[in-house]
Order: sequence, then structure tokens, then C-alpha cells
Amino acid sequence: MTNEQKKVNLLGLSPQKMKDFFVEMGEKPFRAQQLLKWIHQVGLEDFDDMSNVSKVMRDKLKEMACVEYPEVIYHDISKDGTQKWVMKMPGGSSIETVYIPEGDRGTLCVSSQIGCSLDCSFCSTGKQGFNRDLSVAEIIGQVYVAAKSFDKPGEKRERKITNVVMMGMGEPLMNFDNVVDAMALMMDDFCYGLSKRRVTLSTSGVVPRLYELAEVSDVSLAVSLHAPNDELRNVLVPINKKYPIKELMKACNHYMASLPDRRKLTIEYTMMNKVNDEMEHAEQLAVLLKDTPCKINLIPFNPFPNSGYERPSNNRVYKFRDYLHSQGFIVTIRTTRGDDIDAACGQLVGQVEDRTRRSERYIKLRDINDNSPSV
Ligand code: SAH
Ligand code: SF4
Repeated sequence: MTNEQKKVNLLGLSPQKMKDFFVEMGEKPFRAQQLLKWIHQVGLEDFDDMSNVSKVMRDKLKEMACVEYPEVIYHDISKDGTQKWVMKMPGGSSIETVYIPEGDRGTLCVSSQIGCSLDCSFCSTGKQGFNRDLSVAEIIGQVYVAAKSFDKPGEKRERKITNVVMMGMGEPLMNFDNVVDAMALMMDDFCYGLSKRRVTLSTSGVVPRLYELAEVSDVSLAVSLHAPNDELRNVLVPINKKYPIKELMKACNHYMASLPDRRKLTIEYTMMNKVNDEMEHAEQLAVLLKDTPCKINLIPFNPFPNSGYERPSNNRVYKFRDYLHSQGFIVTIRTTRGDDIDAACGQLVGQVEDRTRRSERYIKLRDINDNSPSV
């Protein structure tokens, strides 16, 4: 993959933009569908391999366009099937993408930014600061690369990626347009064909963008709550100072009401020992969420060096869960298996150092008390 200046990277064109591209060339819109299929469903990048595209058209495309995807600099497969890719981005930084197989489901955890500006106190991505937004090609490129890596030569592609969660590095709503276009490609029938229920955007609560999202998208929503009151959430998730819990919940409820079908909001609650995992917090959470159709996903904190937080004991996690259960909530615990766990939530840092040592042990994330996906 050379960095071909001035050529349009077709990988990053949303279905609508691909249509516009061909119409501007004076071509019929169905060309867009052909190209989308070759790129996203078959995984081709060379126009000469696209057999139903005429020679004249292929030559024209070669002159004007290219298909460029992120360069993989590290890939690891665990014994249990969990996979991780580190992809190098122009400029030298890197991002991470994780694939988590669970029964007949395969969830790809996709990054939206290099770093993150929101600086949540318990998140290592936040700790590294913000570098830049990913382009559409760089976001969908993660799906492209993962899907392609499952292909077997000469065989039709199997659909190994059944779910996508925008839970990798970055805050998706801070890179709104690119994330929306990339999610459109994930759901398009000529591309990855994922159902809107199986694409989940996770946000720490950029309230105005949630209202905008309701206008343009109908993906599933997960919100990173992590605290049941503003005093604590201001510390853990600083954007709460700007958009406090009441406003956030209103925006989430608005979004959920805008969906064409009935779905539950996912509440993500990272549990930190003796910080937000006391019974009083469970009680406050139950009151806060009593009128919101939701499922609560408890995430025991994944430690990283100098984080200043600890993972609570299993007993504390179970007690918290049991209380919420007793109040009628659907609660799952997302757990991490293995202990050298750089692929876990909040540990994606995009640096490539000492990978060999880390790759010896690997992780798998799954909900231990039901078979639902990792959201
Ligand atoms: N920026 C988005 C999506 C990426 S983070 C968001 O914040 O929602 C994905 C999830 O991992 C979020 O719920 C986040 O709070 C959580 N997380 C971050 N750091 C973590 C850590 N060290 N341990 C456990 N969960 C963490
Ligand atoms: Fe950014 Fe999400 Fe990490 Fe907060 S938890 S710093 S919003 S990536």
C-alpha cells in the first residue's frame, strides 16, 4: 500500500458518497454497489481483479482512485480465538482493534480516534491524551482488515464479524461524521450487512451529539455511566461537569425513543474498588435507572500502571450485581480472562513495545453470567 496522493480512497466512501463519486464521473449509480461489494464483501483492493468492471472503467479508476487500508504491525491470536490487531496510522501513531468470539457471535471492538480528549480518570486511552480523529477509511479499515484476515483462499467469505462495538480507543461522538459514515458502511447490505441492533456506539456522554445521532442513525447505544451521582462522576468522567447525569439520561432516553424498534440502553459501569462499588452506589443507581429500560453491564476495572485504581474483589462485584438484580434489573458482568491483558477495555494504548512478552498470555472478554454480547 503506497500512500497515493490525490487519489480518492474508495474504502472511506460511505454508500451515498460512493454513489456521488460515480455520478460525478458520469457513470450509473449501480457502479457504486459493484465497487462496495468488491471492496467490503470480497476484500479486494486491486481494480484489475474486479471481474464485472469493464477494462475502460478499471483504467479510469486506477487513475483516480485507490483502496488503501491501515497497515497491520502486530496481530495476535489467542488459543480461545480472541484476536488483536495493532494498526499503524500515517504519522506514526497506532490504534488497536480486538475481535472477541462468543459462541455463534463474533464481536469486533473498533477504535474511533487516536487517543482521547475526554480524560476519564481510569482509562489509559484517556491518559495518553488526544492525537487525532480517525478518517472513515481508518475506522472501516479496521473491519476490512479483520474480515479479510478470516478469509480462506478460494473460499467464499464466512461472516465471522456479527457485531461491532465502537468501544476501542477514542470517543466516537467526538468524531461524529466519520463514525456515522463508517457505521453506515457496517450496516449496508452491499458491505458488511450488520443489523442496526448489532452495531453499538459507546459514549461517555457528549449530550448534544446524542441528539444529533438520533437524527441520522439507529444503531444501539451504550453509555459509560460509571457513577450514580454527579459528585463522583465529575471526578471519574470529567465531561460530566459539562453535561451532568440528568441531562445525559434525558438525551439517552430521547435517543432510545427515536429508534424504530424497542431496544434497551446499555449502561456501562466500570467498578473501581471502594470508589464506586459500595452498596450506597448500587442503591443510588437503582433509583437513577428505575424508569429507563436498560441492561447494566458491570466492568471490573482493568488495571494499568499508575492508574491509582484497583479492581474490586469478585465478592464485591457479585454483591453489587445481586442488589441490582433484586431491584429487577438485567445485569451482566464483563470479565477478563488471563492477566496480561492489554486488549481489555480501557487498556488500548496503541503503543508497540514489548509485544512478544505480552502475547504469551492473552485474554478473552465475555459476560460470565449470560451469553449476550460484550455490551
Ligand atoms: N469513549 C467511549 C468508548 C471507548 S471506552 C466511552 O467512554 O464510552 C469503552 C468502555 O471501556 C467505556 O465504558 C470505558 O469507560 C471503559 N473503560 C475505560 N477504561 C477502563 C478500564 N481501565 N477498565 C475497565 N473499563 C474501562
Ligand atoms: Fe475517552 Fe472513553 Fe477513555 Fe473516557 S473512557 S477517556 S471517553 S476513551
